[in-house]
Amino acid sequence: MRKVEGRIMTLRDVKIGESAIVKAVGGEGALRQHFLDMGVIPGAKVTVVRFAPMGDPVELRIHGYELTLRLADAAKVEVEKITVTSKDDDNTEEIIDNEQVNIEHPGFGEGGKYHDKKHENPLPNTEVLSYALVGNQNSGKTTLFNQLTGSNQHVGNFPGVTVDRKDGVIQGHPNTLVTDLPGIYSMSPYSSEEIVSRNFVLNEKPRAIINIVDATNIERNLYLTMQLLEMNMPMVVALNMMDEVTGNGGTIKINKMEEMLGVPVVPISASKNKGVDELISHAIHIAHYQEKPLDKDFCDIDAYGGAVHKCIHAVEHLIEIHAKEAGVPLRFAATKVVEGDEIIKAKLGLSDSEKEMLNQIIAQMEKERGLDSSAAIADMRFSFIEKVCKETVIKPRTSKEHERSQRIDKVLIGKYTAIPMFILIMALVFFLTFNVIGAWLQGILEIIIGSLQIATEDVLVAMNCNETIKGLILDGIFEGVGSVVSFLPIICTMFFFLSLLEDSGYIARVAFFMDKLLRKVGLSGRSIVPMLIGFGCTVPAVMSTRTLPSERDRKMTILLTPFMSCSAKLPIYAFFVSAFFPKHGGLIMTGMYVIGVLVAICAAFLMKKTVFRGEAVPFVMELPNYRMPSAKSVGQLLWEKAKDFLQRAFSVIFIATILVWFLKTFDFGFNKVTDSQESILAVISGVIAPLFMPLGLGDWRVVTSLVCGFLAKESVVSTIGMLYSEAGGIENALSALGAFTLLVFSLLYTPCVAAIASIKRELGAKWAAFVVLWQCIVAWIVAFLAHGLFSFILR
Ligand code: GDP
Ligand code: MG
Repeated sequence: MRKVEGRIMTLRDVKIGESAIVKAVGGEGALRQHFLDMGVIPGAKVTVVRFAPMGDPVELRIHGYELTLRLADAAKVEVEKITVTSKDDDNTEEIIDNEQVNIEHPGFGEGGKYHDKKHENPLPNTEVLSYALVGNQNSGKTTLFNQLTGSNQHVGNFPGVTVDRKDGVIQGHPNTLVTDLPGIYSMSPYSSEEIVSRNFVLNEKPRAIINIVDATNIERNLYLTMQLLEMNMPMVVALNMMDEVTGNGGTIKINKMEEMLGVPVVPISASKNKGVDELISHAIHIAHYQEKPLDKDFCDIDAYGGAVHKCIHAVEHLIEIHAKEAGVPLRFAATKVVEGDEIIKAKLGLSDSEKEMLNQIIAQMEKERGLDSSAAIADMRFSFIEKVCKETVIKPRTSKEHERSQRIDKVLIGKYTAIPMFILIMALVFFLTFNVIGAWLQGILEIIIGSLQIATEDVLVAMNCNETIKGLILDGIFEGVGSVVSFLPIICTMFFFLSLLEDSGYIARVAFFMDKLLRKVGLSGRSIVPMLIGFGCTVPAVMSTRTLPSERDRKMTILLTPFMSCSAKLPIYAFFVSAFFPKHGGLIMTGMYVIGVLVAICAAFLMKKTVFRGEAVPFVMELPNYRMPSAKSVGQLLWEKAKDFLQRAFSVIFIATILVWFLKTFDFGFNKVTDSQESILAVISGVIAPLFMPLGLGDWRVVTSLVCGFLAKESVVSTIGMLYSEAGGIENALSALGAFTLLVFSLLYTPCVAAIASIKRELGAKWAAFVVLWQCIVAWIVAFLAHGLFSFILR
């Protein structure tokens, strides 16, 4: 029965629409743990939904959600086919009982059931109540974080993607601090984000945890909840997306769920701002009184002769003192040790004889349970979750959102439509950004800046202002900073579309159908996310690589992302297009993006053959339902981007502009020069200029602007504008061929300091230095080739 052509049947052999029961999970180490954590455990039912357009990976439905796997990994999962009787899921009920939908949620506080009046020991009122906001990816963390903190957040480093840590104060409660942690599926160290989140909770010891759970995908989400409960910290569960659950006629018996989990559970809808106030009251209460979960003993004493139960408790006794000394919550330490978590094991510092005992206890359990220890623990958690869901969740028969997603997916990841749709969508995004919305807004802003400049000039003339100062303000600041600021609308529009694509769930699909293609150059489908974000800005793109579970993929992706033309380079393209190629603007712009991507592909091939040999990591990813991002989240993101951009324009670019203006206005004796050839700047740049001779770019002014571009790419334009304004404009100084070569060089050469700093943070100083050098070399070579090739077409 379980054999196909003489071998054991695996998930790979299951056809579209067919279902199977998982019998055993192969593979090893962290990857296998990840499979288990995602719910691929013996006994789980899987249904094959579709294959990616190129035949690999495969999309599965398991535990009520969509998971993607590569065929090679699917072949490691042994299954037994079942014949489907009716529609999926078991605990669906048809009746829509409105009384249940509008169930009363119990009170909390001093009369609440978690509150132990006798032993209460509230924190002093001055104590800052710190929270970790923990949840799966796409559970609505960003949305909730924005609702909780409003505009009160102070964001660390560069905002944008939910990958970096953000802190914020809950609105109306000045004595609180919420930290938005990266979205994670488990407390096992698989991707670097999981390690970040786990270490935050373990080491920084927030006062309480706010666990956000996607109620439409509750089985998978509760898996993390189980592990958080083991941390034995005050916790409140926020059941998000309740609007979708009730909207489809389902409900969740909140009171019963609270009872079973032993922590307050609050139904909310983050995007509709429902239930958030109640969540806040609960969160404040449990943190203030330090109310810990009532129960964390989820191992069933009756299951399989209590094998897992006995094992966990025996291990708990064995490691109790060590866990206390290491400051690791006991129950958490025990299950992690049973799962074989090396980091926690090392932290406990067990003696050899204790390790020996530990191994025996685990071996005994494995024998009794008939599963290896990791699978047994995952199964223990999922069994408990199943019990909770059976008792408390009335699933809607159908989910409008899920059906809608499936319909959209027929087109967006359909066999023949996926790639054309992707090209169409990206083309539309760029078209709308450059030709319609962004350009229109930019026009308006340019008019405003222009009239401001004229007004300023009038004032300066009326004041009889010193000529040098007037030059600084008009030629320096307005030419430099002004021309850069006018790009604000285009950059914001770009980020608007990119965040729309990301938050709606589309980019996850792109990763799904591009996986096979990307694997050819040694990357995995997930690397597409940083690359697409890279079109906006390299800084958040580099940070978003933290979702990649392997160091090799992460490094490779980080090294390739800067080749994606970032939005700060747009002013450069626009400037040269209007000066040299006014009729072929679209062609040149598109050409730049294409050259960037092509160079990245070549670089990837090169890396795959040299430094980064080996295989890309497995592709285990969730495909969330499509959702409309909330206006507030998008608004906030745009505001952050705009702020960030303006800050840069008025700090780095402003200072660079003034510095360049100063250096080009005076000579080494600080005398004002009449011919800028004699200025300090010309002399310094003249030293590096010969390097650019072969590219036809030996002019000191070009070299200076490229050097300034290292501070911020927009500076290339502000500097060129300023330096050439007296030479009668760049048109007279450079040929079309020279302009094109310069564009290619600007596209590819070293990323700006902000990007380099973020690369340094991720990979260390050596790699950051390498990136600077390597990209300059690549840029030089490609620009040289372009110079040679196009010398036949352009003059
Ligand atoms: P994160 O990945 O956990 O940060 O999740 P996001 O906050 O980015 O949310 C993922 C998607 O779910 C976004 O498109 C949100 O607009 C949407 N979303 C968040 N909360 C709710 C909710 O309560 N109801 C509905 N229907 N959608 C929501
Ligand atoms: Mg997010």
